[in-house]
Amino acid sequence: MYETAIGMEVHLELCTRSKVFCGCSTNYGGAPNSQACPVCLGLPGSLPVLNKRAVEFAIKASLALNCEVAPETKFDRKNYFYPDLVKGYQISQYDKPIGRNGYIEFEVEGVTRRVGIRRVHLEEDTGKSFHDVAAERTYLDFNRSGVPLIEIVTEPDIRSSAEAKSYLEALREIMEYIEVSDCRIEEGSMRCEANISIRPTGSSDYGILNEIKNIGSLRGVQRALEYEIKRQTELVSSGGIVLRQTRRWNESELKTEVMRTKEEAHDYRYFPEPDLVQLVIDNSWLNKCRSEIPELPRARRERYVRELGITPYDAEELVADRALAQYFEGVARLGTEPKLAANWLLSDLRRELNQASLAIEQVKLREAGFSELMVLVSSGAIGSKTAKDILGELVHSGVSPAAYVKEKGLAQLSDTSEIEKFVEQAIADSPKIVADYRVGKERALTALVGVVMKLSRGKAKPELVNDLLTQKLNKGRL
Ligand SMILES: [Zn+2]
Repeated sequence: MYETAIGMEVHLELCTRSKVFCGCSTNYGGAPNSQACPVCLGLPGSLPVLNKRAVEFAIKASLALNCEVAPETKFDRKNYFYPDLVKGYQISQYDKPIGRNGYIEFEVEGVTRRVGIRRVHLEEDTGKSFHDVAAERTYLDFNRSGVPLIEIVTEPDIRSSAEAKSYLEALREIMEYIEVSDCRIEEGSMRCEANISIRPTGSSDYGILNEIKNIGSLRGVQRALEYEIKRQTELVSSGGIVLRQTRRWNESELKTEVMRTKEEAHDYRYFPEPDLVQLVIDNSWLNKCRSEIPELPRARRERYVRELGITPYDAEELVADRALAQYFEGVARLGTEPKLAANWLLSDLRRELNQASLAIEQVKLREAGFSELMVLVSSGAIGSKTAKDILGELVHSGVSPAAYVKEKGLAQLSDTSEIEKFVEQAIADSPKIVADYRVGKERALTALVGVVMKLSRGKAKPELVNDLLTQKLNKGRL
């Protein structure tokens, strides 16, 4: 039997407005080379100036991952040649990363897993090469050159492909919550690499590491690791030896293939970046960053279940969408019963949003209005069917639900004498259903309630209708 040890390396582009060492915009999708200057083009004599906000984002990411934050740190040059790396080196952090020795916790099939975070460091992104624009030519776009990145490296604590996927989901959720990266794998703002080795179960030595690059989706990560675990296990079981390799995930053929075989480790000749001074992170700066970190998703889910009585499933659904969770909190703060609000938000409101392709932030019905609607429903002022019917209108118009109900005359009828008229009419109009009821067909009563509701245009209070119908029908029997 073999067990798997997986470590993940994730690069995240930070969502600062300007690049890490110059003032160029970081906007995605600009015309090629429209967002570049002498600094990020690496022209001789240009000097980097550190973006304070990028450092703060790296500090926040480190804190949210339970890391120790270095009180003193520095930047280093990582030297290598690549056409999209114009300077011939990348400014990164070598021996003094901003964050180290952290951990992240998440659930996999109901079990809490803890994965160690070895380091979080800040560096600059490279430009981008395009090989497929024209035959026999490569085009270079430097808009991405100098965009701030953090690299998050785990310990080899991950034991399966499913765990790797859960780790990435948990990481992405945290980073979105603290608003340091939008974590879009498709746009390249989140990039994943995995190191994987297998060893006989119970052994304390790690096997030969293989690196897997070029994984473009969360599903790809899981599939690539599944493939690799199988490949290595079969190889070792049949007496073969795993070579130390860097492999790439081929998404169309669903397999990993060799990129290069590592004879020895890369020598990047790291040395301290002479154009940047040492970076000191004092306590007041650290505390400021700490104070800006909101309640993290895991803590929030637990609080919803513990304090607000929400089911774990609903808590999961609400917290997965930060903006929806904020909206929910606003509604609950206004005194609406949290369970009722959660039900409505996750079913009816979400359906309206999907139909209209709206994000919750764009909805005109804000927390106070939604809360008002919930009061109308829970007090019985309007039936829940009426509430569902008018929700779409409220979402788009933003009018007060109470005013809308009054204007349209939608308030629920709870006046017995008025409902009685509908009940009598329903009985008179539906001799067949009444006959069914008299021979004991239980479903006939539901059908008659339906007739009354229709006659009252949905406004009769269903419980009253039910009571009155039963009374009238049984009276005739005596
Ligand atoms: Zn620039």
